[in-house]
Amino acid sequence: MGYGTVISRGLRLRCPRCGDGKMFAGSLSMHETCDVCHYKFERAPGYFLGSIYVNYGLTSILVVIGYFSLFLTGILPHSAMLWTLGAICVLVPLIFFRYARALWCGFDQYWDPVPEDDETNDHGNATSMSSKTTA
Ligand SMILES: [Zn+2]
Repeated sequence: MGYGTVISRGLRLRCPRCGDGKMFAGSLSMHETCDVCHYKFERAPGYFLGSIYVNYGLTSILVVIGYFSLFLTGILPHSAMLWTLGAICVLVPLIFFRYARALWCGFDQYWDPVPEDDETNDHGNATSMSSKTTA
């Protein structure tokens, strides 16, 4: 599994380990475990706090690119540019919320993998039913 697989599974909101199970049950609700391989998505309390870094990084990049693009082309007055960039700061994290979590989960699984047969640390509890948790 390489970075392309991690990013592909993240952008398709699929399980980072098997690539088949869906991570989300709705727009904000997330399955607790994978339906296919029973991988526990939230590996520890506060685990998804790290996805904020992914979301913040993307938003920052878009705002910087947007600022220089608008500033150097001069197609918008400064007040409109401020409102446009402010809207990006608010909307991008909301739109990218699920993808940031999926990518965070995927890269964590890539760098610190939990094997499928790992039953010692409750990451692969095959007996638990898949349930939903509200984000
Ligand atoms: Zn899975």
